[in-house]
Formats: sequence, structure tokens, C-alpha cells
Amino acid sequence: MRIVLLGPPGAGKGTLAGVLKDTLGVLHVSTGDILREELKANTPLGQEAKKFIESGGLVPDEVVTKLIKNKLTNDSRAKDGFMLDGYPRTVNQAKDLDNILDKLGMPIDCALYMEATLGTILARLTGRRVCRGCGKIYHIVNMPSKKDGVCDSCGGEIYQRADDNEETIKNRMKVYTDSTAPIISFYEGQNKLKKVNADKDSQEVKEDALNIFNGSR
Ligand code: ADP
Ligand code: ADP
Repeated sequence: MRIVLLGPPGAGKGTLAGVLKDTLGVLHVSTGDILREELKANTPLGQEAKKFIESGGLVPDEVVTKLIKNKLTNDSRAKDGFMLDGYPRTVNQAKDLDNILDKLGMPIDCALYMEATLGTILARLTGRRVCRGCGKIYHIVNMPSKKDGVCDSCGGEIYQRADDNEETIKNRMKVYTDSTAPIISFYEGQNKLKKVNADKDSQEVKEDALNIFNGSR
């Protein structure tokens, strides 16, 4: 299956992809994760992306589209299906993605819109923690690690993302409303849009999403 996960920051896209990638046998591709890796390695791309990520703005379309094109073209696992998380984030990116996938003969099957209320989003983003080693996502209240500050999966250090602060979150929400939310109608127009109530707990979200994906095959 080829899936796009849509929804505001903090809706639970990365978490859902993390729990479903093995069940569905698909590749999880997160542009946020790729960009953070580039930043950590201090590559020219990471240096270019830094100011956008830190302010909560968007990295230019052509930069992220190139990353996605390379990944979907060169990673042989993409042929078995993928779940995109955090891309596309603008209507331009959605159009570019369609062009890329058209050429590869691998069109999107389903765009899942993870709908969440503002209270949920804020509580999730402010309490989010991430493993520095493997990227596993935690929440200080909803999904804590067994041992404080230590990843259950790899033993890595758990940290708070620099952009998960109140000021940057405000900016990211505005960017989401202005630039990303219009993608919902884009996929609605293609009859590919499905919705899930992302306010629910993660087990329920997972089951609802699985039912939707099984119905879209
Ligand atoms: P979240 O999980 O909160 O939705 P991400 O990890 O997906 O955030 O993204 C973090 C940051 O990386 C974004 O705020 C943005 O600066 C940048 N970014 C990630 N994906 C994209 C994209 N598709 N287009 C532009 N910028 C992106
Ligand atoms: P996104 O990728 O959409 O930005 P994440 O998957 O990173 O969102 O989740 C944001 C935060 O919310 C994380 O701390 C995660 O542990 C938590 N979370 C995700 N889904 C749920 C859920 N269904 N119920 C409660 N907490 C959740």
C-alpha cells in the first residue's frame, strides 16, 4: 500500500507509522526525521534546513521534494509500499509527488487525514520526547519510557525536540493552517481522502486506520 499521512503537527503521524509499518510491510518515510539526521550530521543540506526547522517554517519545496524523489526512487523497499509522514506539506509538494509517482508507476492509494483538536495537539507536542538514537517517539504522560530518559528499544538518550517549544509550536500551527491544510481538499478531489479521529488513544487510532487501509486495498 502507498499511503500519505496528513494532519497537524502532533496528531500522531509518526507514532501511527511506527506501529503500522511492520503490520503493513511498508517503508516509513518521514521528511522531519531525514532533515533532523542531516542537521545532526551537519551536512550542507542540514545547514540549509536549520533555520527553517528552528523557526517552525517550511524548508523550501524543491529541497524536500528532491529528498523524497531520491528516497522513493533509490530505496528498493519503496516498491513494496510506503507511508509518507510529514510530506507533502504544501499543495505544490502534493503535485510534485504525484508527478514523481506517476513516472514510477506507483500512485498513492490512500491519504489518511488524522484529525485532532487544538487541545490534543498542544498537549501532545509539549509532552513529546524522542530517542536520539533510533527516533522512537514517547510522551511524558501518554507514552512514557520504562526508565526515565532511556529508550526502551535501543537504550539511547531521550530528548525534547528544540522545535517543540511554545513559540515555535504557534508558528508551526499557523504554517499548517495556511500551507498544509489545503492538501486535504487536494486529496478529497482525487477521492483518496479518508479520515480518522486522532484524539482517540493510540490503540483505537491504530485499529481505525487499519480498517480504513484494509478497505482501500
Ligand atoms: P511534526 O512531527 O511536528 O509534524 P516534522 O518532524 O514532520 O514535524 O517536521 C519538523 C520540521 O521539519 C518542520 O517544522 C519543517 O521545518 C521541516 N519539514 C519536515 N517536512 C517538511 C516538508 N515536507 N516540507 C517543508 N518542511 C518540512
Ligand atoms: P506527528 O508525527 O503527527 O507530529 P507524533 O507521532 O510525533 O505526531 O506524536 C506527537 C506526540 O503525541 C508524541 O509524544 C506521541 O507519543 C503522542 N501520541 C501520538 N499518538 C497518540 C495518541 N493516539 N494518544 C496519545 N498520545 C499520542
